[in-house]
Amino acid sequence: MTRALIVVDVQNDFCEGGSLAVAGGADVADRIAELIASDHSYDQVVATRDHHVDPGDHFADQPDFVDSWPAHCVAHTAGAEHHPRLAGAAFAAVFDKGAYAAAYSGFEGTSADGASLADWLRSRGVHRVDVCGIATDYCVKATALDAVRHDLATTVLLDLTAAVDPTRTDDVVAELTGAGVQVVGTGSVTST
Ligand SMILES: [Zn+2]
Repeated sequence: MTRALIVVDVQNDFCEGGSLAVAGGADVADRIAELIASDHSYDQVVATRDHHVDPGDHFADQPDFVDSWPAHCVAHTAGAEHHPRLAGAAFAAVFDKGAYAAAYSGFEGTSADGASLADWLRSRGVHRVDVCGIATDYCVKATALDAVRHDLATTVLLDLTAAVDPTRTDDVVAELTGAGVQVVGTGSVTST
């Protein structure tokens, strides 16, 4: 069965030192880089990026960190770039999302040549995807839920994710498994 790894939003602004840093983000970047370097069983390795131009009320001066956020991942800024640990990763395609509105799922993204993630995977015969990245409780979750909606056998690699609110991870896992997503790992990884 053709498998793909989807690396969600491992960008500078979501890692330590970024404008919307998620604790453990840099550690996740490390672990994903190691996975890509060591596990050659994936037929495709792709990435998504938050890529904002003017996303409206997704940005706020006084964000609630639920529906509104400090400005982050503004297109063509360093904060929108992949974390340096992944800068050399040879992604087969990168799907940018959220230019003019909030977009949590990678399936809302498009590649440089305009393909949607779903169409891109389908055209390459991908039936199984592993999802990792940032943040567990937002873009990883939304991407995994969309993957099952697109009839992809979907696994979240929990130890290769970092959450905005780690106290909600049990709820996130329950929601994912309830939707038919397989979840592996403990999710207890924190940066040290
Ligand atoms: Zn965003």
